[in-house]
Amino acid sequence: MTAYRKVPAGVKWLRVTKQAKCPVPGCNHDGWCFISSDGAESLCMRVQSNREYHFKDGKVGWIHSVNGRVGVPVVRAEKPKPVINTGRLMQEWKAATKPEYLLYLSNTLSIPASVLTDFEFAYCARNGATAIPMRDGYDCYTGIRLRFPNAEYRSIPGSSPGLFIPRCRPETFWDGGQRLILACEGGTSAAAGLSLGWWTVGTANAGQGAGMLQTLIRRLGIRYVAVVADNKIDAKDGKEDRGLAAAQSISRQMPCRSCVIVLPCKDLRAGLQLGMTADLISSLISSSVWRCNS
Ligand SMILES: [Zn+2]
Repeated sequence: MTAYRKVPAGVKWLRVTKQAKCPVPGCNHDGWCFISSDGAESLCMRVQSNREYHFKDGKVGWIHSVNGRVGVPVVRAEKPKPVINTGRLMQEWKAATKPEYLLYLSNTLSIPASVLTDFEFAYCARNGATAIPMRDGYDCYTGIRLRFPNAEYRSIPGSSPGLFIPRCRPETFWDGGQRLILACEGGTSAAAGLSLGWWTVGTANAGQGAGMLQTLIRRLGIRYVAVVADNKIDAKDGKEDRGLAAAQSISRQMPCRSCVIVLPCKDLRAGLQLGMTADLISSLISSSVWRCNS
């Protein structure tokens, strides 16, 4: 008996269909069973063989050699990934965004409208949401993140996760040659960081985007990165702090000196709303242990 036998690399189990029924004699059904994508084997859910297949969820099926009876590999058409032109969409939406909307957003988020403009926040009428563009480390658009009025986020289909990078130059935030930036998770948090007086770049997802950050940091000659750890205690067990683990992972991958600063609140934007000041960030940064990665 073979327990949980995997198909060879590159071969997948595909569900049988009306066009490609289960080839096992005595079965011949068009549902529930599987055929390997190379057509060599069948995983039948009805007719037993001496090769038992155990699914992770406890279900059991039986593998049968098809011996060329199917012959033609089963090809399933993959859904084409939608292609979007982020640059054109953002240009349209920014042109259609009324100043009143930015003021409303500014009041809702407690972030100055000028900072929202710096991150190219725009109104997407089609979705009734705020559109925030993402870019890669070379400053090319990768897609658009939507923020809905109920504070839920979703990316426009066809988007790839990227970074939220302000349009202003980081040099304008450096006095005395300290080439330091903040890195955090999310576009609104990055905007909050910028309005607190730090050039801040946001990642699309916690702990991700380190490769793009590396490119950006090398390109802009940044020497210090303070990675902001959001306070996200896992609601299920109340123990694991995912925000800290994500920030530490980013920090380790930076091509320059880096540290992790742990916020006393949920994230930078919540901090801004609670009255967090640039001085508090400064003191968090100066009391941090810096790693030398390169
Ligand atoms: Zn079958």
